[in-house]
Amino acid sequence: MASGDWHDWRWQLAHRVTSVGALLDLLGADFPVAPATRAALERAGAASVVSVTPCYLALSRPDDPRDPILPQVLPDPAEPAGAAAGSGVPDPFREEELEIAKGVVNRYPDRALFLLTNFCSTLCRHCMRRREWEGGFTRLADAEIDAGVAAIAARPAIRDVLLSGGDPLNLPSAYVGRVVRALRERCDLDLLRIGSRVPVTLPLRIDDELLRELAPAAPLWLNTHFNHAREVTVEAAAAVRRLAGAGVVVSNQGVLLRGINDTEGDLLDLSRALLRAGLRAYYLHQCDPVAGVRHFRVGLARGIELVRSLQGKVSGLAIPRLTVDLPGGGGKVQADGPQLLERRGDTFVYASPLTGARIEVDGSEGSFGGAGIWRERGIAWPA
Ligand SMILES: *Cc1c(COP(=O)(O)O)cnc(C)c1O
Ligand code: SF4
Repeated sequence: MASGDWHDWRWQLAHRVTSVGALLDLLGADFPVAPATRAALERAGAASVVSVTPCYLALSRPDDPRDPILPQVLPDPAEPAGAAAGSGVPDPFREEELEIAKGVVNRYPDRALFLLTNFCSTLCRHCMRRREWEGGFTRLADAEIDAGVAAIAARPAIRDVLLSGGDPLNLPSAYVGRVVRALRERCDLDLLRIGSRVPVTLPLRIDDELLRELAPAAPLWLNTHFNHAREVTVEAAAAVRRLAGAGVVVSNQGVLLRGINDTEGDLLDLSRALLRAGLRAYYLHQCDPVAGVRHFRVGLARGIELVRSLQGKVSGLAIPRLTVDLPGGGGKVQADGPQLLERRGDTFVYASPLTGARIEVDGSEGSFGGAGIWRERGIAWPA
């Protein structure tokens, strides 16, 4: 590959790796797999959608038994098995029922999610919205954006809009600019934020053209999604600095993932790397009960202990809140916060911050089945 192209984010987008076969071919001898395993991986890929930017894939070290990159993008044979076994549902938070306009989800009275696209340059295997990947990638049309902004403007109780998807920052700069300008002009908001993994998976996309579109809407907040210190590269840190220079406040929302960041050392390293890059840790999400994602879940009791282990070792600025999104659209709670009413073994009972209802959460550890490539390599993941 010509190195000049490598540094062009449009080249990275155009050269996404979109099949398991292509991904394994690229890794080649660095990641030797037996034919039967390759077939199982390709089946898992064919049952879903695969995509990764070359620059994100290049962060992987396949010979490292705890490589945190590859398992986030290479489908595991446990994915389709988990989905078929009914462990998880496509839309546990009933987002689709709460839409007030196409793409606008209004669950909390004061907040709205504005889902602009279902496209991400890099598809995380643990994604809570992976149901959206089927049927091709789209984005809201201009008229749909206008209708969404109008629906938000018509509900003055909405003080906070979160642009999400998919990943809004893979969209053309002018498109993003149009959305933030319309929201600033037509809605009275306390908070306008963007959820984007672009600083992690395609950091060079945070270019001057995009920043020129974002800067007039400042203060903007951006929550990104680093899960491991190895992802906090020089390029990613530079992207965060460029955003900060344009008046964008950047924080991190990671996901607690089995085999990827579920040791005290992983979390401490991540916290320190975030601080060095000028990022504050906001949430660490408990992996949601989404179909095909179950095998990534860390037991809730263990997750609570892991996050507590950071206390006294690093600034509070770098200690995330372990967050559980209550099933059925009950809202988000801190795993060991005041809404935790009761714990019976692996069942955690929370009070919904929205309705006060008692909601049970399965806090059990995920388990891996099938012919996981990782087991073949004789390592502990998947066990
Ligand atoms: C998570 C979430 C938000 C934002 O929640 P914060 O706790 O303010 O970060 C808003 N709407 C929905 C539907 C959400 O799931
Ligand atoms: S970047 Fe976010 S929305 Fe996109 S695949 Fe990953 S978790 Fe899902």
